[in-house]
Amino acid sequence: MKKEKSRSVIIARQEHGVSRKLMSPNALRTLYRLRDNGFFGYLVGGCVRDLLLGREPKDFDVVTNATPSEVKRLFRNCRLVGRRFRLAHIHFQDEVIEVATFRSQVSNEPESEPKEASGSERRQRPPRMLKDDDGMILRDNVYGTPEEDALRRDFTINSLSYNIADFSIIDYAGGLADLNAGIVRTIGDPAVRFQEDPVRMLRAVRFAAQLAFTIEEHTLKALVAATDTIVRAAPPRLYDEVLKLFLSGAGATCYGLLRQTGLFAALFPCFSNWLNAESEGFPHARFGEMLCQVDSRIQQGGMVSPPLLLALLFGEYIDGKAAHFRRQGVPWQQSVNAAVAEFMGETCPIVMITNRVGLALRDIISQQMRLKKIPGRRPESFIARHDFNDIVDYCRATCGGTRDVVKQLDWWAARAMQQASVSLPSRLTEEAGAPQRKRRKRRRRNPQVKNRTEGV
Ligand code: ATP
Ligand code: MG
Repeated sequence: MKKEKSRSVIIARQEHGVSRKLMSPNALRTLYRLRDNGFFGYLVGGCVRDLLLGREPKDFDVVTNATPSEVKRLFRNCRLVGRRFRLAHIHFQDEVIEVATFRSQVSNEPESEPKEASGSERRQRPPRMLKDDDGMILRDNVYGTPEEDALRRDFTINSLSYNIADFSIIDYAGGLADLNAGIVRTIGDPAVRFQEDPVRMLRAVRFAAQLAFTIEEHTLKALVAATDTIVRAAPPRLYDEVLKLFLSGAGATCYGLLRQTGLFAALFPCFSNWLNAESEGFPHARFGEMLCQVDSRIQQGGMVSPPLLLALLFGEYIDGKAAHFRRQGVPWQQSVNAAVAEFMGETCPIVMITNRVGLALRDIISQQMRLKKIPGRRPESFIARHDFNDIVDYCRATCGGTRDVVKQLDWWAARAMQQASVSLPSRLTEEAGAPQRKRRKRRRRNPQVKNRTEGV
C-alpha cells in the first residue's frame, strides 16, 4: 500500500482480491480501449464496492479523462446522451456501459473546456455548477480530476476506483476502511451533503440495509435532522428510489430504518398516519408482512413488478378508502377507482408514481372479483391479460391462506398452465421454422411491358 501526494491510497493488484474474471467483459473492453489510446480508465462506484465485498455488481460504471467527443471517436458503438452533462453510452449486444468524464464539485471552471463548445456558446452558457438558496445542487457539470470525481460521490464506500493501467484500487476518501468496518459514511460534512442532494438519505438507508452496514454516527444524526427536506427532491427521482428500496431484497430492513429516522413519514405522510392509527384495537400489520413476502421472493431470484409491489404495500389502505366510498353508496368498481385516485392524489406530489403504474395498480386491485367467478365469461381472455400473474399473486399474498380462495386460485393457475401448454406447441412450431408457406414476392409489373403484352 502506498501513499500518493494527495490523500489517496493505492492498493496494488497483489494486495486486493478484485479479479478481472468477475468483471463485465464489455466494461473491460471499454477500459482497455481507453487505456490503449492514452486515456485514464477507471471503474468506479458501486461495482468496485460490490466486487470488494464479493457481491455481483448490478452495473459497471467507467470514468475517464477523455471528453465525450473523444470517447465517441474511439467507439463506433457509442452514443452520447444527456444535454447538460454529456455521458457516453457504449452499446454492446446485451449491455450498455456508461462512460463519464471525471467531474468535480468545485465551482470554478476547468482549464480544459470540452472542445465541442464554441466561443459564443461558452459566453452564453449558464453556470456549470449551481446550487439553490438552500444549498441543493441544481447542476454540477464541471470537468475535474480523478480525485475530485471520487470526492463528489455520496459515500466513502462508493468512491473507490479500479485503475485499468495497473489493476490497482485507488481510495481517495477512506472507503476501504469503512467497507471493512461495515460503515456508511458521507464524504465530507453529512449535513451539507444531504442538503446538496436529499436523495442521498434514501441511498444511505438502502446501502445500510442491503449490505447489513451501520450508518456512521454523524451521518445518521445529520440524516435524522434533515428528514423533512426529502420532499425537496424531484418526485420522479423519489419514486425510483422508493422502488429500489423496497425491491432491494432488504425491503423490511429498509422500512425499519425509514421509520426510525422519520423518512417514511416524510415520504408518505397520509399513509403513515393511517399505519399509526390502530383499527379496532389492532395495528395495521399487513404492510410488514407484505414486505417480508416481497423480500423472500427477490432473495430467491424472483421478480415483483412495480404495480404489484404498490398493490401489496398499499392495497389494504386503498381497500379501506374504497370501503369508505361504498358506504356512501358508490358502486364497487367506481369505489376502487376513486380510492386509487385519492391515493395517487396524496402520494404523487412527493413520490411521483407514473400514471401507467397507477392504472396497473388499480387493475390489480379491481380484478380480484374476476377470480371469484369460475370460470366466468371468457376465462381465456382473462388469463391472456398481461397482468394475470400479478392479479393472482396479489390475491394469493393477501388472502391469508383462506381455503376457498386458495382453491379458486389453484383452479386459475391450473387453467392458465393448460392454456399455455395448448398455445405453446403452435408457437414453438412457428418459431422453430416449421415449414411455413413462403410469401411470394409480388413483382411490380412495368406498366409499359403490361401495355405491350396487352397490345399483342
Ligand atoms: P447500485 O448497486 O444500486 O447500482 P451504486 O452505488 O452503483 O449502487 P448507482 O446509482 O449505480 O449506485 O450510482 C453509481 C455511483 O454514482 C455511486 O456508487 C456513487 O459513487 C455515485 N452516485 C450515485 N448517486 C449519487 C448521488 N446522489 N450523490 C453522489 N454520488 C452519487
Ligand atoms: Mg450501480
